[in-house]
Amino acid sequence: MDNPARQGMSGGMTQDADIVIVGGGLNGPALALALAQGGLRVVVVDARPAPARAEAGFDGRAYALAIASVRLLGAIGVWGAVADKAQPILQIRTADSQRAGSPFLHFDHAEIEEGPMGQMLEDRHLYAAFLDALRAAPGITLLSGETVVAQEVGPAGVAVTLASGRILRAGLVVGCDGRGSGVATRAGIRRVGWGYGQTALVTAIRHDRNHQGVAQQVFLPSGPLAILPLKGGHLSSIVWTEATATAEAIQALPDDAYLDVLRPRFGGSLGDIALAGTRFTYPLSLSLAERFTAPRLALVGDAAHGVHPIAGQGLNLGLRDVAALAEVLILAHRRGDDIGSTVALEEYQRWRRFDATALALGMDTVNRVFSTGNPILRMGRDLGMRAVGAFPGLRRGFIRQAAGLSGELPKLLTGRPV
Ligand SMILES: Cc1cc2nc3c(=O)[nH]c(=O)nc-3n(C[C@H](O)[C@H](O)[C@H](O)COP(=O)(O)OP(=O)(O)OC[C@H]3O[C@@H](n4cnc5c(N)ncnc54)[C@H](O)[C@@H]3O)c2cc1C
Repeated sequence: MDNPARQGMSGGMTQDADIVIVGGGLNGPALALALAQGGLRVVVVDARPAPARAEAGFDGRAYALAIASVRLLGAIGVWGAVADKAQPILQIRTADSQRAGSPFLHFDHAEIEEGPMGQMLEDRHLYAAFLDALRAAPGITLLSGETVVAQEVGPAGVAVTLASGRILRAGLVVGCDGRGSGVATRAGIRRVGWGYGQTALVTAIRHDRNHQGVAQQVFLPSGPLAILPLKGGHLSSIVWTEATATAEAIQALPDDAYLDVLRPRFGGSLGDIALAGTRFTYPLSLSLAERFTAPRLALVGDAAHGVHPIAGQGLNLGLRDVAALAEVLILAHRRGDDIGSTVALEEYQRWRRFDATALALGMDTVNRVFSTGNPILRMGRDLGMRAVGAFPGLRRGFIRQAAGLSGELPKLLTGRPV
């Protein structure tokens, strides 16, 4: 089939790229690398100047990457640069609270064949590796410090306008521009969602005892506390959820007082603790785009679905979008089809929308059921946890789900190029 997009938006104007990606956070670079590998020409536009983030020191921000995400990073040539900086997750322990005798779930990587359930990786390492790979990849142009202010869709292409006045023409625009996606808003895509009245306190903690690769999720009435092991054995990243007013009050405390509030929640299993990173806060909300596509437009990552960080699945979910969209577009390109056609985009939406929405709402429910002092909800939850703990088959199912190994997987999530 002839490809009108390659000949320009209208009137035979030449295109700057096959695809313009708006947003150079994490999902934008991952998608660009996957598409370039499949022979597509890509421009990535990011509002942030690249060096500002790449040169940041250790700040405590880190991601729990599911096995499937690690495989994708391997397939797009990024994992090799960060593998020795990552901490394998060997066990996951969840507890109702640090009180003795509370319901307790324990997942061990020995229960599945694939090895560690995931890898913890600091943001600064992942971002720096993406930046190096983007700069080295043929077929990718990175425009950092440039903001997209408008987009116009024509019959055969899309024109994307930057604040500098420059206009980029392509067959498709992809919004990887985060929760407040301007790409979605300009296309008239509405969002549904709500705030949780909760804020996450995020930092890094140094502890006396070795974490042995164990990730802990402690469910407190005010919200979950995730203790996530980092490379080296004595460092963990924490995501500590509290009601917003409480979180703001804790964040305003000096370091010593902050640690005094954290200690009883953290528990004594890792010995004494000290602060080891910048203290961040993130207000938590759910934000789902009503559609993931529009004419010549697709949304990926937080632009499509901003979720509660309770299970550390936000980036993993985005990388699933990346893998599915890359596969759909590369195959369309190979067939000589128009990559911005409704047929290709519908295929992407069918593949991703249900999975992403179900997971977002699932995490919403988990947060509600676990962040509660309500005795009936607590009883139901405790029974559920005991049931999962008692049946190895159920437990394995949970581990495979968390590792991103369930459902219909695009090729990149299995570690193979498209
Ligand atoms: C407290 C917390 C802990 C988390 N922990 C985990 C975890 O353990 N594991 C996990 O998988 N996920 C985790 N997440 C989620 C994860 O951080 C996000 O899902 C992920 O960073 C989203 O990446 P993104 O590329 O879609 O968007 P973003 O990272 O938001 O990037 C968007 C980019 O778009 C750019 N941009 C926006 N507008 C424009 C414009 N008009 N023009 C040009 N550029 C523009 C911005 O500059 C930015 O660089 C966590 C989130 C939070 C809040």
